Amino acid sequence: MKIQFFNLQKINLEIEDEINQAVQTVIHRGEFILGQAVKKFEEELAYYLLGHDQGYVTGCNSGTDALILSLLAEGISAGDEVITVSHTAIPTVAAICAIRAKPVFVDIDPETWVMDMSKVAYSITTQTKAIVPVHLYGNMANIFELKNLLRDMKREDIIIVEDAAQAHGSRLNGAHAGTIGDYGAFSFYPTKNIGALGDSGAVFCRSKDNDSRLKKLRNYGQKDRYHLQLNYGINSRLDEIQAEILNIKLTYLDKWNERKSRIMDVYRTEFADLPLFFQKCCAGCKAAWHLGVIALQDRLTRDRLVEYLRLHGIGTIIHYPVPVHKQTTFSSNPVKRLSVTEDLADRILSLPMNPALLYEEQEHVIKTVRSFFTKKL
Ligand SMILES: *Cc1c(COP(=O)(O)O)cnc(C)c1O
Repeated sequence: MKIQFFNLQKINLEIEDEINQAVQTVIHRGEFILGQAVKKFEEELAYYLLGHDQGYVTGCNSGTDALILSLLAEGISAGDEVITVSHTAIPTVAAICAIRAKPVFVDIDPETWVMDMSKVAYSITTQTKAIVPVHLYGNMANIFELKNLLRDMKREDIIIVEDAAQAHGSRLNGAHAGTIGDYGAFSFYPTKNIGALGDSGAVFCRSKDNDSRLKKLRNYGQKDRYHLQLNYGINSRLDEIQAEILNIKLTYLDKWNERKSRIMDVYRTEFADLPLFFQKCCAGCKAAWHLGVIALQDRLTRDRLVEYLRLHGIGTIIHYPVPVHKQTTFSSNPVKRLSVTEDLADRILSLPMNPALLYEEQEHVIKTVRSFFTKKL
């Protein structure tokens, strides 16, 4: 049996007819940029995240742009410091660097694998303008704790941009990922919990003023066609075809998240007696799992398991093998050691876990992982 890590064809073919119909609709309407499909998606996503009239969504080109637009909307620029984590996808940090701000890394918590809020205070300086916690793999960083910290430090001037690119549908004390801080950045890269058939992203915020700034920033700085209101801006628009597809996929989000959570639960139960570890949710978090990540005891065991699974036809990926602060581009700019991040990167492995994974496929993965350990022991 051959099991791909991710089977994007299969997931999209499940709703092929609806997608074809949506594309046809856009062609016949002849409206391709910032039209009714984008407006509908922005309203539907805002409603999904927070209910009626309480929040706003700006569709854009990618999750990276969602982060960039959020930082730009706050006037963050060269020399400003932005606190984030190194155990994340590169775009989190690329967005900060793209506006020439300085990423300041804090370590992650050894159990939840997301920003260790107890380490944030030491990294805050007078230059700190924003904090970008990442809800990695679907598990949420505790934004409420972070808000309390900033309040206690009288630093509520620091804005919080939640990187929710991997957490569509995750909740903390009932609140959706992306709705607790000042901005929530979402990606609809094809493999995410909601994936477009191409690039796209969105920013959520509760403030109408911030939202209207975002909507200008993504459209050259224009308020409406040919009338500038800001002296800078980019082209980062969500297009109508992707928006129509996202409108369909949003209606499947909870169902697909549910399927993935079930797969994750089975892994957890089946592997309970094995020497491997799972990410812990922070208190009050109900994660919509984005990836099925396990951690082994050490790098050697992890690498052997990768090879063993490959030989048995099972695809795995490491998210992420080199922490961002260890990338060669940062080597001329030494960053303090992040021991939890560095240790974890050596031990993690993502197993197949997606809405199209069949029961018998997961059974095969489980059997193979178990046999790796029984052979070894
Ligand atoms: C995917 C991802 C992004 C960036 O999204 P793009 O749409 O690819 O630009 C940012 N942060 C995290 C944590 C991601 O996983």
